[in-house]
Amino acid sequence: MTNIGANLRSIRERMGAACSRCGRDPLSVCLIGVSKTVPASLVRAGVEAGLTVLGENYVQEARSKMEELSDLAISWHFIGHLQSNKARMAVESFDWIHTVDRVSLARELDRQAHRQGRRMPVLLEINVGGEASKSGVPVEEARGLYEMASSLDGLAVRGLMALPPYEDDPELARPYFRRLRELLDQLREAAKTPAELKELSMGMSHDFEVAIEEGATMVRVGTALFGRRVS
Ligand SMILES: *Cc1c(COP(=O)(O)O)cnc(C)c1O
Repeated sequence: MTNIGANLRSIRERMGAACSRCGRDPLSVCLIGVSKTVPASLVRAGVEAGLTVLGENYVQEARSKMEELSDLAISWHFIGHLQSNKARMAVESFDWIHTVDRVSLARELDRQAHRQGRRMPVLLEINVGGEASKSGVPVEEARGLYEMASSLDGLAVRGLMALPPYEDDPELARPYFRRLRELLDQLREAAKTPAELKELSMGMSHDFEVAIEEGATMVRVGTALFGRRVS
């Protein structure tokens, strides 16, 4: 049995300790509970224990959970790979989209946001490790994607997201987190509205403390919160 309340307390404590180590305000880091494959009943227990933001990887799975949990106040973040033909549903259902990784997707999300009369908060996904198996634009193409996406008024580009190469030792992920922060700083220097561009979505169950030390404003934590995923 997962003791979600105890897991949540322990993660918040570790987040707080990481913030103290680097002199950051704990309120500057948002905990996103990653609930992919987690049944709605357990997600509900997490929200009752204090979670307010959830991350989902699959649009359909998320929509059925949203329906079951519609009585709760939850902010839903899309963190999976987004196919263009799911853009309409993603804009309809989610509060944030972390994974804008190509110009064609940015255009489609913009089109859907206009149709639905909203401005969609998004992050640009960067392939910081240059891994062939991962989504995200290479670091060198980030500026081009940013300039294009920030010219679309249906999108509010709020920052960057990355999933660095998996390392057993979280210290080895540090240079990738740092790289993402430096990239955000560079984009801000050239941005028309730098105050809007400040989010760094990075860090998961095994490395969120290092990510916070390197400037993460959103950490995406699944296993450490909900237990091991079954599928
Ligand atoms: C599954 C997933 C997570 C959470 O991973 P854990 O190791 O279970 O914390 C975070 N981010 C993304 C993009 C994911 O797909």
